[in-house]
Amino acid sequence: MHEKTLAELSQALQSKALSSVELTQHYLKRIEQLDGSLNSYITVTAESALEQAKAADARIAAGNASALTGIPLAHKDLFCTQGQRTSCGSKMLDNFISPYESTVTQRFLDAGSVSLGKTNLDEFAMGSSTESSFYGPTRNPWDTDRVPGGSSGGSASAVAARLCAAATGTDTGGSIRQPASFSGIVGLKPTYGRCSRWGIVAFASSLDQAGPLTRSVADAAHMLGAMAGHDPKDSTSAPIPVPDFAAGLDAGVKGLKVGIPKEYTLDGMPPEIEALWTQGMDWLKDQGCECVEVSLPHTKYALPTYYIIAPAEASSNLARYDGVRYGNRIDNSNGVIDMYRQSRANGFGAEVKRRIILGTYVLSSGYSDQFYLRAQKARTLIQREYQQAFQSVDAIVGPVSPAPARMIGQNADDPLQDYLADIYTICANLAGVCGIRVPCGSVNYEGSNLRGGLQLMGPHLGEPALLRAARAWEVIRDAE
Ligand code: GLN
Repeated sequence: MHEKTLAELSQALQSKALSSVELTQHYLKRIEQLDGSLNSYITVTAESALEQAKAADARIAAGNASALTGIPLAHKDLFCTQGQRTSCGSKMLDNFISPYESTVTQRFLDAGSVSLGKTNLDEFAMGSSTESSFYGPTRNPWDTDRVPGGSSGGSASAVAARLCAAATGTDTGGSIRQPASFSGIVGLKPTYGRCSRWGIVAFASSLDQAGPLTRSVADAAHMLGAMAGHDPKDSTSAPIPVPDFAAGLDAGVKGLKVGIPKEYTLDGMPPEIEALWTQGMDWLKDQGCECVEVSLPHTKYALPTYYIIAPAEASSNLARYDGVRYGNRIDNSNGVIDMYRQSRANGFGAEVKRRIILGTYVLSSGYSDQFYLRAQKARTLIQREYQQAFQSVDAIVGPVSPAPARMIGQNADDPLQDYLADIYTICANLAGVCGIRVPCGSVNYEGSNLRGGLQLMGPHLGEPALLRAARAWEVIRDAE
């Protein structure tokens, strides 16, 4: 039953071929059997999951169910969930029980879905491998010596290993699309403002966006339909109605104009990834798409721009963890300043400290004009460039990452290598547009059979057409 997609499970539940309690028990058992070696969950909430499943069965029996009623999901442990530990993968919040529910997870509860638990992530979502978690690394189900990607690596691994029907993640610079790519599943980063950020622990507020990690494009459409929508508690959420993303998915891509950015061809890109990209373009052409070259010349500034803006916002957002009201606190008799200092020094891991120091530096007086302000200007140029490109094309196609999943521990002494590998994902966040990792099979890389990644990007609020294109892609891939 775990081989079924969310859409298929939903059908089985509605037709009463299966109950949500049975399904939930099945996933809980799989988690118990398999997650010891993967470490994709930080917290499993078996008791409340079974209660939710019972309520879902009653709702289905009463005939007022939605597509997500009774479906067992997992949520990245960056979403606040009331009465449950919300750790953000950090020792700082290891003892934090959230007093409220995030808007996105509340919407899933309202839809009657079941939450199996909270998934592992890089500490405060900073990273690309899920290795910086206080709870230890998550492993890639296709090759357990390799990373599942990150920061939403727990969600990606759980979906790929069939330890939940679908999961939520967040994407600040690629944290949905990149782990989806490394783990061989679908990952959608919606347009900035499509989903409410309320109750998602902030990393970089102008870039963060919630989205789904799923087994299929149709599943991503169903999940997005439940997550999206205006929220008065988040002033950056778009005050527009939510379209039916799942409708018309099979309309095809005939006549769609797809852009291929000429600046995306990097020196040192493994030939396997380049071959995948070329094959992807051929698939689209075969389906009746017109592929044209587009130019995004400021792509070369995207990495420094992101790695100034994201740490700057993070350093400000993480100032709240001072040991006073909640979280890790190291008491001592040297006064309050020393209490702050020791609580933070003890509560945050190395990557988070690196970002805070970097962020504080680029914002400090004397340097902010040189770094932060210039990065904001570069961001505006990147935004304009994407807007302009989307005036002549409907979608842009490119890789997700310059290489497939690397070995666990490989970049432990060289964090810059991971930063550099974010080049293809961060532009969508800087520009605020939507992007989806589409399935494209496996590549033989370093002697291992690994998942490869391509993404389609669409204009602001262009998810309906983007999902249609991704679905067409999935049909071709299935036929391969
Ligand atoms: N890898 C990027 C970073 O480390 C993106 C993280 C994210 O999207 N949360 O900042």
